[in-house]
Amino acid sequence: MRVLEVAVVGSGPAGLYTAEALVKHAAALPDPTGTGLAGPAGPVRVRVDVFDRLPTPYGLVRYGVAPDHKSIKSIAEYLRKVLESPDVRFIGGVHLGEDLTRAELLAAYDAVVYATGAMRDRRLGIPGEDLPGSYAATDFVNWYCGHPDVGPSSFTLDAESVAVIGVGNVAVDVARILARDPAELRTTDISQPVLEALQASKVREVHVIGRRGPAHAKFTTKELRELGELPGVGVMVPAIEADLDAFDGAREGTATAESDRRVRGNMVVIRKWATNNAQAPAAPASDAPTALASAAPSDAPVTVATSASADAQPEAPEEGHARTLTIRFWLRPVEIIGDEQVTGLVLERTRLDENGAFQGTGELETLDAQMVLRSVGYQSVPLDGVPFDERAAVVPNAAGRVLGPDGTPLPGEYVAGWLKRGPTGVIGTNKSDAAETVRNLLADLVGGAAVDDAALPRPGVLRYPDGAPTAAGARVLALEETLARRGIRPVSYAEWLRVETAEADLARSLGRGDRVKLHGKEALFAACWPADDIASDPPSDQLSDPAGEVTPADPDEATPADPD
Ligand code: NAP
Repeated sequence: MRVLEVAVVGSGPAGLYTAEALVKHAAALPDPTGTGLAGPAGPVRVRVDVFDRLPTPYGLVRYGVAPDHKSIKSIAEYLRKVLESPDVRFIGGVHLGEDLTRAELLAAYDAVVYATGAMRDRRLGIPGEDLPGSYAATDFVNWYCGHPDVGPSSFTLDAESVAVIGVGNVAVDVARILARDPAELRTTDISQPVLEALQASKVREVHVIGRRGPAHAKFTTKELRELGELPGVGVMVPAIEADLDAFDGAREGTATAESDRRVRGNMVVIRKWATNNAQAPAAPASDAPTALASAAPSDAPVTVATSASADAQPEAPEEGHARTLTIRFWLRPVEIIGDEQVTGLVLERTRLDENGAFQGTGELETLDAQMVLRSVGYQSVPLDGVPFDERAAVVPNAAGRVLGPDGTPLPGEYVAGWLKRGPTGVIGTNKSDAAETVRNLLADLVGGAAVDDAALPRPGVLRYPDGAPTAAGARVLALEETLARRGIRPVSYAEWLRVETAEADLARSLGRGDRVKLHGKEALFAACWPADDIASDPPSDQLSDPAGEVTPADPDEATPADPD
């Protein structure tokens, strides 16, 4: 049987859905109908090594999904089955670009799939952005999710008023974690130091700020609605900003609300929160130097559902953790102010003119805030030596085939997930995305159905098994030896399972739910390699098999694969 060796870089949803699709689709490769797709190669088995720079798998499921979103986190249970497939190995703690090169990976595997996601924050490009107290939401999310890159004491919540810029689902997550009574987080997996920081939080007001209108907001209705269900938290939206037409001369928002179900759902929620009492409703002045004034005079009737007025008052704040959450629209940040620390945020009223052009009105408003979190989207980080489109912040690709500078596919290189398409969609979106990449990868390795395979990135290692590099297992073994020589000790799946056990033990000892995350690299590595184990380190070329037993690489795997 021909064994194909594929490396997947990144063990988040994109990487693991790719591994799953590789194993499943390869099983279906032999073509009994005789159309030639499988060629003379016969049955094919794909073995997948999933690399991650962290010692922990699951990427954003572990370090991006908020701790109180337990049902989304349960996707890890599905992904766990992928890692436990006999044809998939987890190789944690190995960083492409630092511990090994792209060329080394390509030499060791028949194909490489990059699936490293999008971990860098986007910037606002406004004065004051680097003041203490101004942070990327990605850092804040990493902190409350216990990401080893952001230490447990990276945030203290001394601010009374926090501004969150952006109206996507990450902004909603961040606002919810800031506003929620921390007592409700006790039974989540949130790390103990983060829970204690949230318990000591002085935050009382959270302001979420969108530069365009409610119909342009990116959040989804389910996530938005959840904000209104937080006990002790009053949610409000200035009525004029909940009015679709007040700052929209082109009535674009109204049209979108008619055609887009998600937007309609969002508007039902937003209108319930609309109030004339929220801070700075900022109705346009009658002498405002824009067409807006006539579009929305200050006394214009607000098109909120009439039933909303009864609901308009935010819940009366309760003693203790009571907080308010205000969602604002049509305001763009122009400056973060403060001498040594953030003290406020200057916002400019925006609008769409009659032609739909987005513009500032020149009308400014200052919001008191001691902490500003920019939640304006993620960006992918270039991988050393791998083509990268700086403008779109993705690896240039055609349906998952990585494209070189001349626009043609590069042999053996593929991409999946946010690195392929940008930071959009929900976790499940990565499944169909990975399937597309895998279909093309396998078609290339097979050589394609066509007789003339010249256009394919690879001549088709399955169609010409005799001419293809054969000692696949040997090549992977050589790579493992290279890592060992460099002093790189990969974390195996069995070693990761020790982290899971340690986290369950910690939860028990704290009397907190099923799991409490270990926070920080040291704690994670100490759990992977307890001191008594480090003394008897297995050689680095011994990676545990998925069943949890440490086995040396099988020398038989180093022999040429049998094409039959
Ligand atoms: P996003 O959905 O793209 O939202 C980014 C927000 O930032 C938009 O409101 C955007 O406004 C705003 N923005 C961009 N540049 C700005 C600037 N210079 N000034 C002010 N505002 C600016 O990104 P995200 O919230 O990071 O989410 C990323 C992906 O993860 C999304 O697909 C999201 O659904 C997903 N996610 C899902 C969940 C969940 O399902 N629970 C949770 C978290 C994340 P414009 O529209 O005007 O550009």
